[in-house]
Amino acid sequence: MQPHCIFCKIVAKEIPAKIIYEDEHVLAFHDLHPQSPVHVLVIPKEHITSLAHSSDEHTTVLGHCLRAVAKIAVELGVSENGYRTVINTGADGGQSVHHLHVHLLAGRQHGWPPG
Ligand code: AMP
Repeated sequence: MQPHCIFCKIVAKEIPAKIIYEDEHVLAFHDLHPQSPVHVLVIPKEHITSLAHSSDEHTTVLGHCLRAVAKIAVELGVSENGYRTVINTGADGGQSVHHLHVHLLAGRQHGWPPG
Protein backbone atom coordinates (compact mmCIF):
# COMPACT_ATOMS: atom_id res chain seq x y z
CA MET A 1 0.00 0.00 0.00
CA GLN A 2 1.26 3.40 -1.06
CA PRO A 3 0.27 6.30 1.19
CA HIS A 4 -1.73 8.97 -0.68
CA CYS A 5 -2.61 6.56 -3.51
CA ILE A 6 -6.36 6.81 -4.09
CA PHE A 7 -6.61 3.33 -5.63
CA CYS A 8 -4.68 1.76 -2.72
CA LYS A 9 -7.25 3.41 -0.47
CA ILE A 10 -10.06 1.82 -2.50
CA VAL A 11 -8.31 -1.56 -2.15
CA ALA A 12 -8.09 -0.99 1.61
CA LYS A 13 -11.80 0.03 1.62
CA GLU A 14 -10.80 3.37 3.17
CA ILE A 15 -12.71 5.24 0.48
CA PRO A 16 -15.85 3.97 -1.24
CA ALA A 17 -16.13 2.66 -4.77
CA LYS A 18 -18.72 0.69 -6.71
CA ILE A 19 -16.82 -2.59 -6.58
CA ILE A 20 -18.01 -5.22 -9.02
CA TYR A 21 -15.25 -7.84 -8.84
CA GLU A 22 -12.65 -8.86 -6.32
CA ASP A 23 -10.28 -11.76 -5.95
CA GLU A 24 -6.96 -12.37 -4.27
CA HIS A 25 -4.97 -10.28 -6.74
CA VAL A 26 -7.39 -7.91 -8.42
CA LEU A 27 -10.12 -5.38 -7.69
CA ALA A 28 -12.57 -3.86 -10.19
CA PHE A 29 -14.91 -0.94 -9.76
CA HIS A 30 -16.95 1.48 -11.83
CA ASP A 31 -15.13 4.61 -12.97
CA LEU A 32 -16.25 7.78 -11.19
CA HIS A 33 -16.50 9.66 -14.51
CA PRO A 34 -17.64 7.10 -17.07
CA GLN A 35 -16.62 7.75 -20.68
CA SER A 36 -18.84 4.97 -22.04
CA PRO A 37 -22.08 3.32 -20.86
CA VAL A 38 -19.85 0.69 -19.23
CA HIS A 39 -16.60 2.01 -17.78
CA VAL A 40 -14.87 -0.22 -15.27
CA LEU A 41 -11.35 -0.01 -13.87
CA VAL A 42 -9.48 -3.22 -13.12
CA ILE A 43 -6.48 -2.81 -10.83
CA PRO A 44 -3.91 -5.03 -9.18
CA LYS A 45 -4.33 -4.92 -5.41
CA GLU A 46 -0.59 -4.53 -5.14
CA HIS A 47 0.57 -0.99 -5.86
CA ILE A 48 2.28 -0.84 -9.25
CA THR A 49 2.70 2.77 -10.35
CA SER A 50 2.31 2.12 -14.07
CA LEU A 51 3.08 -0.44 -16.75
CA ALA A 52 6.42 1.33 -17.14
CA HIS A 53 7.15 0.57 -13.47
CA SER A 54 6.24 -3.12 -13.78
CA SER A 55 8.79 -5.90 -13.83
CA ASP A 56 8.86 -9.60 -14.61
CA GLU A 57 7.69 -10.40 -11.08
CA HIS A 58 4.37 -8.74 -12.00
CA THR A 59 3.69 -10.99 -14.97
CA THR A 60 1.18 -13.15 -13.10
CA VAL A 61 -0.79 -10.28 -11.60
CA LEU A 62 -0.90 -8.49 -14.95
CA GLY A 63 -2.33 -11.64 -16.49
CA HIS A 64 -4.91 -11.76 -13.68
CA CYS A 65 -5.97 -8.21 -14.53
CA LEU A 66 -6.61 -9.10 -18.17
CA ARG A 67 -8.49 -12.29 -17.30
CA ALA A 68 -10.59 -10.27 -14.85
CA VAL A 69 -11.48 -7.85 -17.66
CA ALA A 70 -12.67 -10.74 -19.83
CA LYS A 71 -14.73 -12.27 -17.00
CA ILE A 72 -16.30 -8.92 -16.05
CA ALA A 73 -17.20 -8.27 -19.69
CA VAL A 74 -19.08 -11.57 -19.77
CA GLU A 75 -20.73 -10.79 -16.44
CA LEU A 76 -21.87 -7.37 -17.68
CA GLY A 77 -23.14 -8.82 -20.97
CA VAL A 78 -20.82 -6.82 -23.22
CA SER A 79 -18.45 -9.57 -24.31
CA GLU A 80 -20.31 -10.50 -27.47
CA ASN A 81 -20.51 -6.96 -28.88
CA GLY A 82 -16.96 -6.24 -27.78
CA TYR A 83 -15.18 -3.67 -25.73
CA ARG A 84 -12.13 -1.42 -25.57
CA THR A 85 -9.35 -1.99 -23.03
CA VAL A 86 -6.95 0.86 -22.32
CA ILE A 87 -3.90 1.19 -20.10
CA ASN A 88 -2.72 4.78 -19.99
CA THR A 89 0.94 5.00 -19.05
CA GLY A 90 2.81 8.11 -17.98
CA ALA A 91 2.40 11.70 -19.13
CA ASP A 92 2.11 11.08 -22.87
CA GLY A 93 -0.24 8.16 -22.23
CA GLY A 94 -2.57 10.45 -20.31
CA GLN A 95 -2.26 8.60 -17.00
CA SER A 96 -3.79 10.64 -14.17
CA VAL A 97 -3.92 8.07 -11.35
CA HIS A 98 -0.54 6.55 -10.66
CA HIS A 99 -1.64 3.05 -9.73
CA LEU A 100 -1.74 0.78 -12.78
CA HIS A 101 -5.29 0.24 -14.03
CA VAL A 102 -6.98 -1.26 -17.06
CA HIS A 103 -9.98 0.63 -18.42
CA LEU A 104 -12.82 -1.56 -19.67
CA LEU A 105 -15.04 0.54 -21.94
CA ALA A 106 -18.16 -0.86 -23.56
CA GLY A 107 -21.73 -0.20 -24.57
CA ARG A 108 -20.94 1.97 -27.60
CA GLN A 109 -18.69 1.87 -30.62
CA HIS A 110 -15.19 3.16 -29.88
CA GLY A 111 -13.27 5.02 -32.55
CA TRP A 112 -9.76 4.50 -33.80
CA PRO A 113 -7.28 6.11 -33.55
CA PRO A 114 -7.97 7.12 -29.94
CA GLY A 115 -7.64 10.80 -29.05
P1 AMP B 1 -6.18 7.47 -16.14
O1 AMP B 1 -6.40 8.83 -16.73
O2 AMP B 1 -5.93 6.40 -17.16
O3 AMP B 1 -5.12 7.49 -15.05
O4 AMP B 1 -7.55 7.05 -15.48
C1 AMP B 1 -7.89 7.33 -14.17
C2 AMP B 1 -9.35 7.07 -14.04
O5 AMP B 1 -9.67 6.96 -12.68
C3 AMP B 1 -10.25 8.18 -14.63
O6 AMP B 1 -11.09 7.62 -15.62
C4 AMP B 1 -11.01 8.68 -13.42
O7 AMP B 1 -12.34 9.03 -13.73
C5 AMP B 1 -10.94 7.49 -12.48
N1 AMP B 1 -11.06 7.77 -11.07
C6 AMP B 1 -10.36 8.67 -10.36
N2 AMP B 1 -10.69 8.61 -9.06
C7 AMP B 1 -11.62 7.63 -8.95
C8 AMP B 1 -12.35 7.08 -7.86
N3 AMP B 1 -12.19 7.53 -6.60
N4 AMP B 1 -13.24 6.09 -8.11
C9 AMP B 1 -13.41 5.64 -9.36
N5 AMP B 1 -12.72 6.10 -10.44
C10 AMP B 1 -11.86 7.08 -10.24
